Amino acid sequence: MAGCVFCKIAAGEIPASVVKRADGMLAFKDLNPQAPTHVLVIPTHHLASLNDAKDPALLGKLLAFARDLARESGLADRGYRVVVNTNPDGGQTVFHLHLHLLGGRPMTWPPG
Ligand code: 5GP
Ligand code: ZN
Repeated sequence: MAGCVFCKIAAGEIPASVVKRADGMLAFKDLNPQAPTHVLVIPTHHLASLNDAKDPALLGKLLAFARDLARESGLADRGYRVVVNTNPDGGQTVFHLHLHLLGGRPMTWPPG
């Protein structure tokens, strides 16, 4: 979608530190990391938020992709967190669906 920063990253129009590509999905490092590992997982086509993701299979693929990245990053045994901020109360600031994969330090609960 025109003007969407994550669509531009998916199209290679603006740079990002790409971690992994898969069928219709992309993982890249967050610009402002909140943990030693902070990777964003996106569908390469535009969906504004989790509310717009009608295809459960796509959501399963994105979650499995994040889980596989956690394994490949050596995080699986220690643990990690996958977060989907949704709309303003959820803390979403970029309106292209993304999963945050966070790891490499103990996470706190409740989140802020
Ligand atoms: P949200 O707050 O929407 O859940 O998360 C958006 C995330 O995208 C933030 O963690 C922010 O640091 C990251 N971000 C915003 N713009 C860019 C960018 O241009 N490149 C990268 N790599 N990350 C970005
Ligand atoms: Zn987009």
